[in-house]
Amino acid sequence: MISLGIESTAHTFGVGIVKDSEVLANVRDLYTTEKGGLIPVKLGEHHVEVCDKVLSQALEKAKLSIKDIDIVSFSIAPGLAHSLKVGATVARTISLVHKKPLVGVNHAIAHLEIGRMLSKSNDPILLYASGANTQVIAYDGGKYRVFGETLDNGVGNFIDSFAREAGLGFPGGPKIEQLALKSKNYIELPYSVKGMDVSFGGLLTNLTTKLKSGKYSLEDLSFSTQETVFAMLVEVSERALAHCEKDELVLGGGVACNKRLQEMCRLMCEARGAKFYCPENQFLVDNGAMIAYLGLIMHKTGNSAQVRDSKIRPYERTDDVVVNWR
Ligand code: AMP
Ligand code: MG
Repeated sequence: MISLGIESTAHTFGVGIVKDSEVLANVRDLYTTEKGGLIPVKLGEHHVEVCDKVLSQALEKAKLSIKDIDIVSFSIAPGLAHSLKVGATVARTISLVHKKPLVGVNHAIAHLEIGRMLSKSNDPILLYASGANTQVIAYDGGKYRVFGETLDNGVGNFIDSFAREAGLGFPGGPKIEQLALKSKNYIELPYSVKGMDVSFGGLLTNLTTKLKSGKYSLEDLSFSTQETVFAMLVEVSERALAHCEKDELVLGGGVACNKRLQEMCRLMCEARGAKFYCPENQFLVDNGAMIAYLGLIMHKTGNSAQVRDSKIRPYERTDDVVVNWR
C-alpha cells in the first residue's frame, strides 16, 4: 500500500511517499529568514507558493503518478493554523479529485512512529526536541503519554530566540551549534528541571542579559547554552526510562540534529545499558515521510476520515489521541 503524506504544521511544507515501511520520497521546503523570526501568515503564504512544486518533486522522486497513491495523509495537529490549513487543503483536494481515503495524523506521534519503525525498536521512549515542542513521550495504556515536557517554549524556539537576540536569522539552532564548537568555556546558567518538566523562559532572560552586557563571547554563551539545556533534556529522558522501565530511546525533532545532544543521549544510554537510536536528519526534522507512514498504519486499522471531519486541530495534545493501531 502506498501512502502520500503532507506535512505543514509550522515552517516546513513537506511531501513524503511511503510503500509499507519503505520511504520512496521525502521532499521538503523550509521557510527561512536572514534576520528575525517566523510570522504565521508568512508561513501560510510560503506553503501556498511551494506546495505544487514539492508535491511534483516527491512524485517524480518516487517515480509515481498521483493515481498510484492509495491513501492521502496529512498533519491535522498540532501546529500553527495558518500553516496547517494549507496542507489540509492540498490533502482534501487530492482526496476528493482522485477519490483516495484521507487520514489526518498527529505530528508528534508521527515522529515517534517513524523513529520506532526505522530503529526497529519495540517500545521506545521518544525525546521529541523540536522548534515548538519539547516532550518525553512513551506508550502506556492505549495512548502515547507525555512523561515530561517544557512548561513554556519548545527548546528549538528557545535556541532560535537566543540566536535572534544575537542577530542571527531563522533557524538559529545550526548556527548556535557551529558557534558552540569554538568554545569549551562554560559560563554558569540557570538549570531548570522541575520534576519531569523543563523550562527555558528564565534561561532566555538570563542569556539575553549576559549577551547585552558585552562581557561574554557569543561562542562561550552558545557552548554553555547547549551544555545546560541538553543536560536538562537528558536528565528527564533518563528518568522517564527508569520510571517506565523501558530500555530504548529514540530521538525526534529538529533539535535532535544537534551532534552534541546526540552524543549526550548516547552516553546516558550506554551508562544505563539502554539502546539508543537517532534517525537520519531527514526524518528528525519536520517531514512528509513520517506523516505518510503514520497515515498508512492508522488507515490499516480503520482510521480514515471524511473530508467533513478533517478540520485541523492546532492545539491537540499527544495524549488526546487514542492509539488503536498497536
Ligand atoms: P522542527 O520544528 O522539528 O522541524 O525543528 C526545527 C528546530 O530545530 C528549529 O528550532 C531549529 O533551530 C532547530 N535545529 C535544527 N538543527 C539544529 C541543530 N543542529 N542544533 C540545534 N537546533 C537545531
Ligand atoms: Mg516536528
